[in-house]
Amino acid sequence: MKKRIAILGATGSIGTQTLDVVRQHPDRFEVVMISACSSVDLLAAQAREFGVRDVVIVREDLYGELSSKLPAGSRAHSGGNALEELVCSPDVDIVVGAMVGFSGLRPTLAALEAGKDIALANKETLVAAGSIVMNLAKRKGAKILPVDSEHSAIFQCLQAAGDNPVSKIHLTASGGPFRTWPKEKIETATAADALKHPSWDMGAKVTIDSSTLMNKGFEVMEAKWLFGIKDVNVVVHPESVIHSMIEFADGSVIAQLATPDMRLPIQYALGYPGRMPLDTARLDFRNLNLHFEEPDTRRFPCLELAFKAMERGGNIPCALNAANEIAVKAFLEGKVRFYDIPRIVFEVMDSACFIAEPSTDDIFSTDSWARARAIECL
Ligand code: MG
Repeated sequence: MKKRIAILGATGSIGTQTLDVVRQHPDRFEVVMISACSSVDLLAAQAREFGVRDVVIVREDLYGELSSKLPAGSRAHSGGNALEELVCSPDVDIVVGAMVGFSGLRPTLAALEAGKDIALANKETLVAAGSIVMNLAKRKGAKILPVDSEHSAIFQCLQAAGDNPVSKIHLTASGGPFRTWPKEKIETATAADALKHPSWDMGAKVTIDSSTLMNKGFEVMEAKWLFGIKDVNVVVHPESVIHSMIEFADGSVIAQLATPDMRLPIQYALGYPGRMPLDTARLDFRNLNLHFEEPDTRRFPCLELAFKAMERGGNIPCALNAANEIAVKAFLEGKVRFYDIPRIVFEVMDSACFIAEPSTDDIFSTDSWARARAIECL
């Protein structure tokens, strides 16, 4: 029987690559629902190609346009509520969470509430509401399968761990486009500079987060929630061949290696526990030169801020995430400079009202407050 997939964020980088995996394995998967924020034409084309029954455009003003472009057999929907309802449909087996930012939280919670397994790419969901998301998944018996390449790597390595406890995670980082730039040069970097990622082709938000290393800070939090392992060491590895490693008490380290191709973690999550063939470049070990270095928090203060937010816990990572979303958007629009991102994030975190064990409502109100505060800081 085919696994029936709902894709939140179908027109973004992870969404389109998920559809490519489905295209390669039509005998294994069927897409029953797709959504996008505003890309009507691509969404309609996807609905046509994959014969998708339910198609959601989040922006309600685009409903008419979507409706007119869908083929017979596809139903148009709009708005966040439709998303939350449709992910719970009885014929959805797994939800791919590929929306960008905090906006992924509500539909993720709705899907988990309905006991759906989630292939999770939307890391901000775990950053902002890790304890709520993990507790809900546990209570409902739903699996959260990592799609982020590093977490997929750790997850794959863990298959070899058996019952042995993992003493440490080594989370690799490409270092981003400014890895070799001096601080004075990074100060004047533009969004265009930051969008040139050396090894991964990703959406704008995560690419900027990679250039500030905030993305790596998020991933440390993500690893903590997904695997319950506290000792996470970030190591810069510019080739992006080792996607992460786990270490045991005896010093033995297990790593997962592959050429950088997001379709691998996506299809591992969708096909778990089985593996499927993938038409990607193979590693050539004769030409492999791997390098490792310490991350530089002086040039990349966002990493340090993420560690601080994680240490404080409660609703502080949620405030950090909201401030970062506002600051990154302003940077992409050319309204602030590169180091304004950590400045804004710091100011918001520093003035946030601490809640040790936030409820879902507390998370949403912290997010709104932090966004408003970040806009003041611009
Ligand atoms: Mg990653």
